[in-house]
Amino acid sequence: MRCCLNVQVGLQRLAELVIIFCMSLKTQEKLNVHPCQRCGACCAAFRVSFWRSELSSGGSWQVPLEAVEDSGGSLVSLKGTTQHNPGCDSLKGRVGDQVTCQIYENRPSPCRNFKASYEEGYREERCDLARSKHGLRPLTKQDWKVFRSPSRPVSLE
Ligand code: SF4
Ligand code: SF4
Repeated sequence: MRCCLNVQVGLQRLAELVIIFCMSLKTQEKLNVHPCQRCGACCAAFRVSFWRSELSSGGSWQVPLEAVEDSGGSLVSLKGTTQHNPGCDSLKGRVGDQVTCQIYENRPSPCRNFKASYEEGYREERCDLARSKHGLRPLTKQDWKVFRSPSRPVSLE
């Protein structure tokens, strides 16, 4: 009887250890993801307009025609960003959780130039503003320290 009890306690402990191990793996996984891939707030906070020439720049990227709408004259805007509550149609996932840009390699210049707070050591007001619109706290230097730790196996690009 005592022996059975010992086995039961042992199995229970083992199950607990497996759960703790899985949870720590999940946490590590989250820390390894670029902060923007867990955010996406700026893609759902502002109107994104740019020169029509970016649709056929012939340069290193070309914004897909189907991702934009006409904004008059020489300007186009990303679909979904001109509405009252902007949200780029090319953003997939859930803001503040896990997101991807479906046209990442060909995103327009405003997206390329938008900086995340403290990614380059400075606070970026618009990043903070976008995040606050979605109830997210501003990024800190600590977020980048964790992301850039030597154990990090993945990056955004
Ligand atoms: S194109 Fe991509 S990066 Fe730019 S607003 Fe849309 S989802 Fe965001
Ligand atoms: S730049 Fe700022 S608001 Fe935009 S996705 Fe990154 S952290 Fe979020």
